[in-house]
Amino acid sequence: MAKRPPKKSDRTARRERARLLARLRIDRERLFTLEPGGQPTHPLEASSAAVIEAHAAGAPCPLCAAAQEVTEHAASVQRGIRLREVKLRCRQCGSTRSLWFKIVGTSLN
Ligand SMILES: [Zn+2]
Repeated sequence: MAKRPPKKSDRTARRERARLLARLRIDRERLFTLEPGGQPTHPLEASSAAVIEAHAAGAPCPLCAAAQEVTEHAASVQRGIRLREVKLRCRQCGSTRSLWFKIVGTSLN
């Protein structure tokens, strides 16, 4: 009769799963910051402030893919570039992050 490996306890399995999920969250969050808009050094381009709000509100949470809400929309200037920082909070898991935009509109107002 073949020897079976010792069966992991449910508790150990749960702990391993929790650790893997925690690592996955860190990786997903890091990936989000590498994508366009994830950092002020590589903002998304938008033609107006209105477009920014709509785009930001439509970006799913990188952790759980749920919808996010805009909690703050602030203008900032970094190295001479006018940026918009939109702070987002996931409606489901509550995680927070910022999405960065650069307004490239040719408005003559
Ligand atoms: Zn979430």
